[in-house]
Amino acid sequence: MSFKTIIEPFRIKTVEPIYISNASERAAYLKQAKYNTFKLKADQVIIDLLTDSGTSAMSAKQWAGIMEGDEAYAGSNSWQKMERVIRDLTGFDHILPTHQGRAAERILYGTIGGAGKVFISNTHFDTTRANIEYSGAEAIDIPVPEASNPAVPHPFKGNMDTEKLKKLLQVHGSDNIGAVILTVTNNSGGGQPVSMKNAQQVSEICKDAGVLFILDCCRIAENAWFIKDREDAWKDATYEDIAKHMFRLADGAVMSAKKDALVNMGGFLVLKDEKLALECTNLLIITEGYTTYGGLSGRDMEALAIGLKEVFRPDYLKYRIRSTAYLGNKLTELGIPVMQPIGGHAVYVDAKALYPHIPAHEYPGQTLACRLYELGGVRAVEIGSVMFGKYDENGKLIPAPLELVRLAIPRRVYTQSHIEYVIEVFEKILEEKDNTKGFKITYEPPFLRHFTAHFEPL
Ligand SMILES: *Cc1c(COP(=O)(O)O)cnc(C)c1O
Repeated sequence: MSFKTIIEPFRIKTVEPIYISNASERAAYLKQAKYNTFKLKADQVIIDLLTDSGTSAMSAKQWAGIMEGDEAYAGSNSWQKMERVIRDLTGFDHILPTHQGRAAERILYGTIGGAGKVFISNTHFDTTRANIEYSGAEAIDIPVPEASNPAVPHPFKGNMDTEKLKKLLQVHGSDNIGAVILTVTNNSGGGQPVSMKNAQQVSEICKDAGVLFILDCCRIAENAWFIKDREDAWKDATYEDIAKHMFRLADGAVMSAKKDALVNMGGFLVLKDEKLALECTNLLIITEGYTTYGGLSGRDMEALAIGLKEVFRPDYLKYRIRSTAYLGNKLTELGIPVMQPIGGHAVYVDAKALYPHIPAHEYPGQTLACRLYELGGVRAVEIGSVMFGKYDENGKLIPAPLELVRLAIPRRVYTQSHIEYVIEVFEKILEEKDNTKGFKITYEPPFLRHFTAHFEPL
């Protein structure tokens, strides 16, 4: 028997009150925040869909683990637990704890990067690209062509273009390749999954060329759900076995535990090669901490060890992926243009299609993010010309290719009625959409302007 209502596979033991503001309060808060949702205070927000990173709710077991955290400087019990869980899952011998994902990236890419090196990925996440470029190396994205068309569904839009990969390896020469990085799921590409077949092909190409193959495995459990659901050869495997198999194809992995390890802070780097692991360990000790804690407290490691097991539970993963799809599909039914198919951790709304009368230089994505907040207290983030726009020599905006707004879903935090509320806010968005006006920028810093820019309604 199967039921169509997806219930949250947990009961609530501790609650965090939400302040339910009214529309005129929110209008004032938004004005104070210069119409930039990053500048809102968290307690001014009703439903916070800014990010799924570090925003997970921990289980009673994880909180109990926090009390058991062993804070010994070297060789603590909590480290032993975390190491055991990671070794069992990834199969790698060398495990380096870090305070979050980008610390693992800085250590690895700082070691194998540098001027003249080239890194190739399905899509480099922004901190990945930043760490590679900071080392002096170059980062090249080669997603499959289907990835760039938001309206076309494809089961594995996160895949890497393997023909392009072979060509790039020839053009640059294996010796100049720092690593090939497969991001699962592909965060910047909309949380789209990577198939096992694609991972296998990438692995073989890298082996033949003698090139290092690294997994960016932040959302490997969510990716495993899509593989079991959409790739026939894996329909009878467990989610954990699918992830284990994928790790066995790689030479190492970096992880932000703030995603699929269900914790608020943490990360790690795992490697097969002993010599490379030793080099990275030296950097770890200089910048993060001793080898048995990295930048983490014992209690953080305890919670991480528990979370990395919990995330593979079938009832959890089903609820996770189906509830993200529920929001995406309901919005699509309403007539809101949404990127297809729905990814694992977020729903992306196409603001350019929603507001065809608002040109790129009046920022349709920023407009939608502001209207979502003012109408319903929902916080989302613009991923469009505010984030990625540039100026030409005459100061004219060169728009980003897409004007998106991301609704990222924190893990185990909101219930179905919270999501129903978000859908209702979108009904109001539709009612007023033809009369909605854009924004202009009144202040912007030279880099990463989306975090601190000021706006004014037109
Ligand atoms: C979040 C993320 C990172 C960086 O991790 P932090 O913990 O935020 O430093 C790297 N890669 C991907 C794909 C991510 O989603």
